[in-house]
Amino acid sequence: MLTKERKERMVKDVIEFIIMMKHLTIKTILRKCRARYSLNPLGSGNSKTGCIGTYRPVGPSCPPSCSYLNNGCYTQSGRVFLQQKRATMDETRELRTNTVALTLSAITGLKCRLMVAGGWARNGEIDTNLINNIVLIIETMREYNLSPVEPYSYTHFAHDEFKPYADMLSGVGVSINFSDYFGPRGAVVWSHDDIQELRSMLSSRADIKGIYMCPAQRSKAITCQDCKSLCTSKAFNGLVVFDPHGSKKTKAKEASTNLLELLDL
Ligand code: SF4
Ligand code: SF4
Repeated sequence: MLTKERKERMVKDVIEFIIMMKHLTIKTILRKCRARYSLNPLGSGNSKTGCIGTYRPVGPSCPPSCSYLNNGCYTQSGRVFLQQKRATMDETRELRTNTVALTLSAITGLKCRLMVAGGWARNGEIDTNLINNIVLIIETMREYNLSPVEPYSYTHFAHDEFKPYADMLSGVGVSINFSDYFGPRGAVVWSHDDIQELRSMLSSRADIKGIYMCPAQRSKAITCQDCKSLCTSKAFNGLVVFDPHGSKKTKAKEASTNLLELLDL
């Protein structure tokens, strides 16, 4: 494992390299960063998120309990699949990739989606080293008066297990949403056609500040970059509902429906 001093030097090297290029386009900066460093796949904004995005390998970085693993996960097919297949969990590589993503977010004003694919696990446990590294990167960026724009991510770890780490990340501005969690900051898969059913089932839950259908799924004109006050916002305490999506959406819908049995309403 790298020492803190070594990590800080590596992070500063990346930040200073990007600052030197801040007048260039994001695609040029990314190309030059890839030429200088060995990086994981890094997106500069797809049609749904419109945000800078990072990837971890699906499987090794996922909580074993995730009900979508090998069962309808949207990252296990299509273009996302090809990206995450090229990602590794090498610490140096992840540290630099996350530094590039978060610094580019600060410089371009684009939001940053940490882990378009993959999760916050290593060897089946919460990857606390990764969390500490994200905190270190953002704290180091502050020395250069840089702050990433609304960085956000999702986790399939159980809410109570991951909440202390979500709070730690929130302390440096990273918003964590809890997949399959029917509570504040939850992100659940549920047919938009049946949204009223869900709203009435959760009507007694005063702790959930609103139930919202993901706007990017309702209109092609909206991306996470434009979306206000939901997953990317630190202040959000509502529930976001995703219509089953991806080429394996039938399986994803089944997995979500099975969760109903676990609900204590
Ligand atoms: S939903 Fe997320 S945590 Fe679950 S298998 Fe897919 S990438 Fe991994
Ligand atoms: S609710 Fe908003 S921020 Fe969340 S995924 Fe949908 S568009 Fe993106």
